[in-house]
Amino acid sequence: MPALVLHVAVPSPLRRSFDYLPPRGYDPARLLPGMRVKVPFGRTQTVGVVLEVAVQSRVERARLKHVLEVLDAEPLLSAELLALLTWASGYYHHPIGEVVAAALPTALRQGRTPRARAAAVAAPASLIAEAPPLLHPAQEQAVEAVAAAQGFQTFLLEGITGSGKTEVYLRLIERVIAAGRQALVLVPEIALTPQLMERFTQRFSVPVALLHSGLNDGERLHAWRAARSGQAPIVIGTRSAVFTPLARPGLIVIDEEHDLSFKQQEGFRYHARDVAIMRAQRAKVPVLLGSATPSLESLYNVCEGRYRRLALPQRAGRAQAPQVTVLDMRSTPTEGRVSRPLLTLMDATIKRSEQALVFLNRRGYAPTLICKECHWVATCTRCDTRMVLYQRAQRLLCHHCAAQRAAETVCPACHSLALYALGHGTERVEETLTRHFPAAAVARMDRDTTRAKGALQGLIDDVHAGRSHILVGTQMLAKGHHFPQVTLVGILDADQGLFGVDFRAPERMSQLIVQVMGRAGRGDIVGQVVIQTHHPDHPLLRLLLTRGYGAFAEAALDERAQAALPPYSALALLRAEAVDAEAPLAFLEEACALAQAAGVAAVQLLGPVNAPMERRAGRHRAQLLLQSTRRADLHRLLATCLPQWESLKLARRVRWSLDVDPMEMG
Ligand code: ADP
Ligand code: ZN
Ligand code: ZN
Repeated sequence: MPALVLHVAVPSPLRRSFDYLPPRGYDPARLLPGMRVKVPFGRTQTVGVVLEVAVQSRVERARLKHVLEVLDAEPLLSAELLALLTWASGYYHHPIGEVVAAALPTALRQGRTPRARAAAVAAPASLIAEAPPLLHPAQEQAVEAVAAAQGFQTFLLEGITGSGKTEVYLRLIERVIAAGRQALVLVPEIALTPQLMERFTQRFSVPVALLHSGLNDGERLHAWRAARSGQAPIVIGTRSAVFTPLARPGLIVIDEEHDLSFKQQEGFRYHARDVAIMRAQRAKVPVLLGSATPSLESLYNVCEGRYRRLALPQRAGRAQAPQVTVLDMRSTPTEGRVSRPLLTLMDATIKRSEQALVFLNRRGYAPTLICKECHWVATCTRCDTRMVLYQRAQRLLCHHCAAQRAAETVCPACHSLALYALGHGTERVEETLTRHFPAAAVARMDRDTTRAKGALQGLIDDVHAGRSHILVGTQMLAKGHHFPQVTLVGILDADQGLFGVDFRAPERMSQLIVQVMGRAGRGDIVGQVVIQTHHPDHPLLRLLLTRGYGAFAEAALDERAQAALPPYSALALLRAEAVDAEAPLAFLEEACALAQAAGVAAVQLLGPVNAPMERRAGRHRAQLLLQSTRRADLHRLLATCLPQWESLKLARRVRWSLDVDPMEMG
């Protein structure tokens, strides 16, 4: 019998696995896919994962090196998970070594094998800790539909905020645990995990493994092992948790499935929702996507019959739908960015000892510092963009490269002293409101005020305890917080996403508006929502505000169909950047020529063009968009072209990357 050859995934940017021989004197029968091995690589050593134990080598046998050490006695990654990773590597055209590395906690990736801590928890006496509420009929139907699924099926649970989606997850998970299986729950943000954790630990007295980027290596490894061994029947995590091994998968839940943070935007650019669906299919278990504002992709998949839609039309508990007022800002008096009618309502809200939320998706004091005399504008020296003014700190900050400087007080162009702040960000709205309501406590929640550890929780606690009366914030406000005393929500600029360069901008803005509106009146009191807009007649916005997200989505999908944009076509974006201004476009032009030569007629090549923001952090950026109504053709072209692109001389002079199913077009 010929000696065995191991195909090993080695963390490397090369798009292939590497072949090795088993260690000398090692019983090859003990080698299994999914085990980690230490291997010589170039002039160093590295840790890889065995993908396959084969008899064939793609390299001349005499040139193969031996594995130095086998690090595991049994596979760390199951055959099923390896197959998923191999699929993801192919689909996203990303090197298998880096894909496999993404699935391992750092400690294991580095080849350490820390001793497992003793089993942390004894078997619980009972599964349920807290008595669950009686389900509403719609919830009941949703639970029964998913529970009745035979093997793999994708469900979209659509229900406004507070309609009881989480309760549906909890009920299904209860059944999954009772059947001796595990549930994997993916959430978009770490900020959401403590709240969700609390709901889960109140309901179930079983171990819950929590996986997110805020963990240290030891905590992550511990949670990962609890998931892998099956000791934790519930696994909750953010994006990368989709790759967590599970001993007995029974259900996958993706909460807020529309959220952008499920898509990794650098390196291995996978979409955790899409990977989760593939994973469920391989594991033959149902997968449940939940959202008040489903992505157009998911709604399309419902229309195509690929997903089954389940709806929760009403709010659970006692909360009722809020009253919505749309203000035409072309004819409404304001103070700063805040309309007089909204100020009047806020005043009444505070007097009733209730709370108000004010949403503006722009942080800082003002987006522009400008000279009254010559119209000079403060820009970033490293990016093609304006600097954002932070008035209190008297500083300018670039939101794209994090460059900072002291704010100019004299115009560098004409030496005038007449510099002024143009536009409004959350810091300025906070100032306006503090001035208008001197007796009220105004707090601000955005990336600037929540950077410090514990700061976000502090802000949330203040709202819960009634220490804040008005909370001004960015999209962070939209993220699933439950504030029962908030009865008024003001959306200061509903137009922000209507005219963006990204074709997904209206979808995002609509999702944000609906999510923020959902914060109003979750308690016993009917909420009020005030929406300020300069374009009350914009067709998509009007649809959204008069007939709701479903009507908006239908119209937006029509527009996508007309333009053959996703989900009616598949996209891949080839990006390149370099300090050298010419290199990115030059590289992409050669890449484009090769793609044309590949002769896949059904793929359109759009560009190359400069990126919407041509220069960022001192680098010039360009992109080539590949579009096809036939996904398989697009993948065929990418598979043909990638090796050719890699071997281009210019490929070494630029930083380039391929983004399959890009979620951001810049
Ligand atoms: P969502 O996840 O859709 O925002 P939740 O499941 O968090 O909704 O439910 C919103 C609120 O209503 C929660 O306080 C929850 O405990 C409560 N709730 C959910 N389902 C029911 C029910 N069937 N009966 C009573 N209260 C419920
Ligand atoms: Zn000037
Ligand atoms: Zn910058």
